Amino acid sequence: MNEHFFQCPYCWEEVSVLLDPSVQQQTYIEDCETCCNPIEFHIEFESNELQVFEARPIEQ
Ligand SMILES: [Zn+2]
Repeated sequence: MNEHFFQCPYCWEEVSVLLDPSVQQQTYIEDCETCCNPIEFHIEFESNELQVFEARPIEQ
């Protein structure tokens, strides 16, 4: 697993997520560790290298 740091789109805190490079394309929702708001992640790997990392707020 790769640890990746990003800024939460809600609270702007730097938080980390664990990414699985064995799955090439991933889209999933996980709550921010700090503010507990749901973030939609879109992640793409190519040859175990992170190509795309997006963390978007979910409209409620
Ligand atoms: Zn947050």
